[in-house]
Formats: sequence, structure tokens, C-alpha cells
Amino acid sequence: MNDIIALAVFQSNYPLPKINSRVINLSIKNIRKLAHVEYSSLIKRRKARTINLGGVPIGGDAPVVVQSMTNTDTRDVEATSAQINALDEAGCEIVRIAVPDNDAVQAIPEIKKRIHLPLVADIHFHYQLAVDAIKQGVDGIRINPGNIDKEKIREIVKTAKERRTVIRIGVNAGSLQKDLAREYGGPTAEALVVSALRNIKIFEDEGFDLIKLSLKSSDVPTMIEAYRLIAAKTDYPLHLGVTEAGTLVDAAIKSALGIGTLLYEGIGDTIRVSVTGNPVTEIPLAYSILRALKIRMVGPEIVSCPTCGRCQIDLLALTQKIENALIGRKDYLKVALMGCVVNGPGEAADADIGIAGGHGFGMLFKKGKATKKIAEKNFVPVLLEEINSMLKGKKEV
Ligand code: SF4
Repeated sequence: MNDIIALAVFQSNYPLPKINSRVINLSIKNIRKLAHVEYSSLIKRRKARTINLGGVPIGGDAPVVVQSMTNTDTRDVEATSAQINALDEAGCEIVRIAVPDNDAVQAIPEIKKRIHLPLVADIHFHYQLAVDAIKQGVDGIRINPGNIDKEKIREIVKTAKERRTVIRIGVNAGSLQKDLAREYGGPTAEALVVSALRNIKIFEDEGFDLIKLSLKSSDVPTMIEAYRLIAAKTDYPLHLGVTEAGTLVDAAIKSALGIGTLLYEGIGDTIRVSVTGNPVTEIPLAYSILRALKIRMVGPEIVSCPTCGRCQIDLLALTQKIENALIGRKDYLKVALMGCVVNGPGEAADADIGIAGGHGFGMLFKKGKATKKIAEKNFVPVLLEEINSMLKGKKEV
């Protein structure tokens, strides 16, 4: 009742359709709540065996883990550590570095000293770099079986076994073994799966099972099909990603479709959204996919309307300021930023906190209750103060 009274006060300054919008919004809210319950219960997660990578559990019932990869020169310890710490602050949970030569291997211990995230070394072509990276103390390595000789892979596995280092077998459509490319007429989903299975056999022959798999392609349908096929054939944890996904918009769309489709089918234990550019931008995209599917309710979820001719506040500026201020927060909180009272109160009432805009002012909603009218110039400080006090002690749900 309080919020209806508040809404009436609010609307006295805002001549729009009154009670109908409220009634409609309440109905939509109830339908949405019902849909949420059914939607979440539709996801039945594939049971992968659990492995531990530098203290982070992967597979089984562990949360789907968000990963990224640095794009600094690994030999530059300062720059690489700084980027890893920026990724950590943004919410990244495992980080990979390229290790292209011996100088990069030598940088590993110093980088490890300066960071807190589990560290994975990405190795191509040179098995000795993989062996040495393991000896320098990385938590995991990623090798591409398409470009390392089978006998050399055995050497890597032997060293990883001694040190209990996780290995990701990272099959990539761009570097599929030639015989498979010939046999399957290119990097098809089936060819990627056969490549992964071949390598699993080498690892298992050595008695090694600290394995994670990825079968990446820049072609979304191929990637989806490859993961579906491998998910039915093994119980090793799967790292999902659409490779070479492009800049922000394309990367977000391709990853949401590729990673999102698989997660919705219960497939996937770690994910990476690959973006050309600063890898820190990958992290909010990854969490956005997880939140959209109700897989991990982590980080602030901002609901904002597209605005229309009814909006009389600068909603874009408000949304960007609030988004920027909340980057890196892992606590879940739903914030509704709405341009007007048509959908504003309904969305705001469904959120932990929200604002429905008016003409130079807005109504602040908390936990479904309209609390006070605030002037537009005070939107950001008031919202941030309220959000910070709500987030105190709040955890991922
Ligand atoms: Fe327009 Fe936003 Fe109001 Fe919807 S909530 S009517 S999009 S201003």
C-alpha cells in the first residue's frame, strides 16, 4: 500500500496513465517470478568430475568459473602482474598467460609472487616450455595437441603428474591435426572431438586425469556441436569459449549464444568470453551470461529501460555512472533504473533498489517499497550510498 500512495504522490508531478500501469506491472512481475522458477529448474548440469586448480574447484557442483587471459608481454612482469590484478579486481577467477619462450618461463615465479589468482601457462609448439613452466610453479597449463608431438606430450604429462598440475587439452579449430582435417574435410565438430579423445587417451595411458578440455571454434554452431558431442563421451570438466570472437559487441553476442546455449543445456564448468582488446572487459560479459541464465547470481544486475519519449531524466548517464561505480563487486544485487513510471515502479519493485524517473526527480524504491522522492542531481550519490549499505555483508545467491 505504501508504494501505491507514494506512486500517487509521485504521479502528481507526472501526468501519465496512472493505476493501469501499476496493475499491469504487478501482473508482469508475478509472471516473471513464476517464469524464473521454471526457467532455473530447467537447467540440469552435466556431472563432471571435480578437479582443483590452484585452490579453485572446477566441475561437479562447483560454481561455473570465470577465466580470462592477459594480453601483455609475459616477460614484462610489471605489466603482466598489473593486468592480472586488474582482472582479479573485476572478478576474474583463473588467469592464463602466454608463455612463448624461455624468458616468459623465467618470469613466472616473479609474477606468481605478485598475484592471487590461479595461474595457467599457455604453451604452443615447444614441449620443453610446458615442462619448465610446470617446474616454475604454475597451477595449470594449456597445451594445444594440434601443435605438439605425441611423444613430447607424454613428457609434459609425466612432469604434470609429479607435481599434480592441471592440464587443459585445448583443441582449436584453427590448428587441428592435418590427418583429421583431411579425414573430416576440415575442422568439423566431429574432428575436434576425435582430436580431444586421442589426447585424452595419451594422458590416461600415463595414468593422468587432472584434465580439463576445450574444443574451441570461431564458428558458433561448430563450437556448440563439438561440446555437446564431447560432453556425452567423457566426464572431464569442460572449459567453454568461442575463440577469436571479435571486439566487444560481436564477442558478447557470439559468446552469449555459444557459451550460453551450452550452459543452458547444463554443459560447461569454466568459461571465457574472448574479446579483442582489454581482457578486463571480458569479465562483466561473462557474469552477465551467468546471471541471465540464473546460473550464478553474482555481481550487481542492472535493469535499465531503453527510454522513450516519456523519459525526462538522463537515464543513460545515470546507468553508466552506476555501472562504472559497481564494477568488480561480486555481491548480487538487482538495481532497476527506469525512465518513467510506466514500467518504472513495476521493475523497481522487483529489484533490491531502483529509481523510476520523473521530471527532474525520481522515486527511490527499496525492496519493493517506494521510499522517497530525490532530485535528479542527487541520483548517483543517494543510490550509491544506499547500494553500498545494502551490499554490506551480502553474498552471491
Ligand atoms: Fe519509456 Fe523507459 Fe518509461 Fe518504458 S520505462 S515507458 S521505455 S521511459
